[in-house]
Amino acid sequence: MSKTYKIGVIRGDGIGPEIVTEALKVLDRVGSVCDMNFEYNEMLLGGAAIDATGVPFPEATKSGVSECDAVLFGAIGGSKWDSLERHLRPESGLLALRSHMGTFANLRPAVVYDELVNASTLKPEVISGVDIMVVRELTGGIYFGQPREYLSDHAYNTMIYTKNEVERIAKIAFEIAQKRDKRVCSVDKANVLEVSQFWRDIVTEIAKGYPDVELSHMYVDNAAMQLIRNPKQFDVILTSNLFGDILSDAASMLSGSIGLLPSASTGKGVGLYEPIHGSAPDIAGQGIANPLATISSAAMMLKYALNEIEASQKIDNAIKQALKDGYRTGDIGAYDAKTICNCSQMGDVIVSYIK
Ligand code: NAD
Repeated sequence: MSKTYKIGVIRGDGIGPEIVTEALKVLDRVGSVCDMNFEYNEMLLGGAAIDATGVPFPEATKSGVSECDAVLFGAIGGSKWDSLERHLRPESGLLALRSHMGTFANLRPAVVYDELVNASTLKPEVISGVDIMVVRELTGGIYFGQPREYLSDHAYNTMIYTKNEVERIAKIAFEIAQKRDKRVCSVDKANVLEVSQFWRDIVTEIAKGYPDVELSHMYVDNAAMQLIRNPKQFDVILTSNLFGDILSDAASMLSGSIGLLPSASTGKGVGLYEPIHGSAPDIAGQGIANPLATISSAAMMLKYALNEIEASQKIDNAIKQALKDGYRTGDIGAYDAKTICNCSQMGDVIVSYIK
């Protein structure tokens, strides 16, 4: 009998609905090829939720996500909601969702496809063969730290990490490294920040339990430079919420477009799978967004949440083959393209390659 998985679907705002549609198309195809079914439970978050319910993270979404095997998410945000009070803005809804789901580990692979080595702004010899996994702490640090306040003559946020928060994310990074090239580079700002020295000391302690993995430490300003200078030196980058947010966007440009990079957020229970980019309001509604980051996120969901390794590989292989055969969306269209696709056409191409 074929298996049925319950997938929470959050389309969000801007290009979110467009790219999620393509990912669902691909999931349905891989489901029919690999004899499994997906039941989709659509939920609201961000601007779409504000418009429908008045809040960015409605109760129905809160209860809905825990009833799913995994959640696939597009993106939220847009200028329409930018003037709202911070706690009512779409981004607050997303932070609250991540916190509610306990998805403290954000895995962001930055891989350069051979077919796209010319798509990066960096030289091909610098980026060819890059395969980095950024492990970003997602539910702590300065994005969540209390107190925080905006006053008339000053404003402040708090960067705080507990021992438990650092230990659990460090363990995930070391476990992932064990299945890769066995190297973890922990990125912090320990020369200036107490919270970073604390992070470094705990990571060093945790490393003793993984003698087969080599640990190095790097300051975040140097890491930003090294990512551009010689990205191949990295295997797993372990870092905090704020630094990971910035470094993973920088790493995305190694691959040629932010529209290519997926992510998996895992932790206590149900995982959240989403592209690393935002809602791209500048191209929303035009049908030209690159859906590959979201389709890759669906592949990560199959692998990490559902343990459907073969189905996940079929999607990854279909993406590689499509790029090899010259199919490109506009963001990567200038590089060895044979056929320029819109968002929906790219989804169809990936579907057609899944056998
Ligand atoms: P963005 O990632 O949305 O866009 C940055 C640039 O990349 C834009 O030029 C955009 O057109 C392009 N881009 C992004 N995704 C693309 C894709 N799939 N295909 C082709 N081009 C793509 O970042 P931004 O412009 O700084 O933010 C826009 C909105 O998104 C803001 O409201 C922001 O708060 C929100 N945001 C949401 C998330 C999320 O939902 N996880 C993440 C980042 C930003």
